[in-house]
Amino acid sequence: MSTTIPATYPDPEYEAAHLATYEREPRHPIKPVFPPGVREEDFNKAIEEFIAVVGKESVFVNEGLSDYIDPYDIHEADQSKRKVPSAAVCPQSTDQLKQVLKVANQYAIPLWTFSRGKNLGYGGPAPRVNGSVALDLHLMNKVIEVSDEYHYAVVEPGVTFIDLYNYCVEHKKKVWPSTASLGWGSVLGNTLDRGMGFGANYAHHQAMAGLEVMLADGDVIRTGQFGITNSPSAFISKFTFGPSVEGLFVQSNLGVVTKLSIWLTPQPQAFMSCAFSMPQFDDLAVMVDAFGEMRRNNTINSLVWFTSLIETLCISGRREDYWKGEGPVPDWRLEELRLETGFGHWYARFGLYGPRRIVQAQFEEIKAVMAEKAPTGELAGALYDNDAGVDAAKVPPEHGSMFVGKPELWSLPLINWPIPKEKVGKAAHGDYAPIIPSSGKLLLEWMKASKPICEANGVELMADFFMFERHVVLMNMFTWDQTDPQQKKNMENLYYGLYEEAKARGYGMYRAHVNHMDLIANLNDFNGHAYNRFVEKIKDALDPNGILSPGKQGVWPNRFRHLRETQEKDSK
Ligand SMILES: Cc1cc2nc3c(=O)[nH]c(=O)nc-3n(C[C@H](O)[C@H](O)[C@H](O)COP(=O)(O)OP(=O)(O)OC[C@H]3O[C@@H](n4cnc5c(N)ncnc54)[C@H](O)[C@@H]3O)c2cc1C
Repeated sequence: MSTTIPATYPDPEYEAAHLATYEREPRHPIKPVFPPGVREEDFNKAIEEFIAVVGKESVFVNEGLSDYIDPYDIHEADQSKRKVPSAAVCPQSTDQLKQVLKVANQYAIPLWTFSRGKNLGYGGPAPRVNGSVALDLHLMNKVIEVSDEYHYAVVEPGVTFIDLYNYCVEHKKKVWPSTASLGWGSVLGNTLDRGMGFGANYAHHQAMAGLEVMLADGDVIRTGQFGITNSPSAFISKFTFGPSVEGLFVQSNLGVVTKLSIWLTPQPQAFMSCAFSMPQFDDLAVMVDAFGEMRRNNTINSLVWFTSLIETLCISGRREDYWKGEGPVPDWRLEELRLETGFGHWYARFGLYGPRRIVQAQFEEIKAVMAEKAPTGELAGALYDNDAGVDAAKVPPEHGSMFVGKPELWSLPLINWPIPKEKVGKAAHGDYAPIIPSSGKLLLEWMKASKPICEANGVELMADFFMFERHVVLMNMFTWDQTDPQQKKNMENLYYGLYEEAKARGYGMYRAHVNHMDLIANLNDFNGHAYNRFVEKIKDALDPNGILSPGKQGVWPNRFRHLRETQEKDSK
């Protein structure tokens, strides 16, 4: 078994960012831990058998686990709450994966599945159950197919956004894959966690079609038309003869997804980079209602991404660059910053993609609607067009980047917001991400309710939201210095404050950190948590030994159900 970690990313910029995130000598060394209910002797035998399957260079223990923790873990100094794996195993093929699952079943070892483990803000690669073995699929990393006839890709788990983009460029594919704001994550992992990008196919899980999944017993299923050998519709239709089951593997511990097909945007003849801003805090209501209607009537058929002023600013500077005083940036200074930067209190970005004449017509319609409904706002549009298709690489970063599917590490600087440049700190971030109807009134009410909760805990309202047709996924972002215990305490209070506020309004969550999965799953309270009981029945049928990601999304196998934290927020 190995205690040396090989390089993860071929690109030096990505590898450097990875190394800056995961400390090779963690400030809080990882103490050895065993999976719950597994005898040391059995654990050691299982490790030997994992090595026999994947080779000793692909099984990690002790110091080799420094890439398998949550670098933003608020409980990193508290061994009783910290979540770390006992080992990590990296299969390179579905055959090896099958054998790994066999060993895990034999010794009842819980595994924690991920593809790249960059699920930062939600636990990264750290397991829900302390002592699980990290099942790291990053070595299964083939781009199986990119079709520029039907505009889809089929990928294995370890393919990152930047890998897929590079593949498309290299093979001159006339497609624009969607990317999250950080290009180092896995396409498959991000999609399965309901992650989002920024262009026309930004809702990744809604763009997936056929999946291949290995179940806990090693059986392999394919979903939809992919379930028919040689079907020409395997990756282009969401139809199934019978119940659709793809959704069972999204935010799930019911199987290990080994192939995913995802729809891509055809390389457009025209791309218009658009921005709209409004000056006042209360303008949010009018802005949301106008854009919401245009999302629903298809004037805009791509993401509209809203940011608050602090969130707009945090990409290009730290708090101290904008505010020299104590505590969060006060409103009067925010108003000065708005005038100095010209960003507006609310800033919305979106792209228009398609044939030139349609893009131009869309923009004209948006201009007319906003002039009527939001006359104090400012609309800007920059058109890029080419009859042979717009080259995403040639759109300047301020207009392109993730809006044209070009992966970068664009948003990483935002986590440094609270850390003064002369201080050696360790930046971290989290979010509370409620799902809210796309209503100006409700969004403004939420901002007014969450702003004082943020400020009472020493941070500004740093918010952004992804506008779908009928709802938004909102991120109340917060960043802190891991070396400052008071800031960590504040962030916990902030999370629970936002939780209470959202719960009172009936807002569920889009994703949750491993520390909060039970808390958020508990919001599904209809009929005595019937949804959770239903999923756990399936869990017990498919995974009787409870080896696959126990506790993920609050779904517990019978064997580990006693670990569910029912009053998690009270025991914080
Ligand atoms: C500054 C910053 C900006 C961010 N911006 C974005 C953004 O724009 N959009 C966004 O969506 N997220 C964003 N994130 C969150 C996160 O970084 C990304 O979602 C990232 O892509 C997730 O990591 P990953 O792709 O490596 O997925 P993984 O960590 O590999 O997987 C995520 C989860 O999916 C499940 N999973 C993964 N692989 C499998 C499998 N093979 N079978 C079954 N289940 C599996 C697991 O439960 C896993 O925990 C951001 C985070 C930070 C810190």
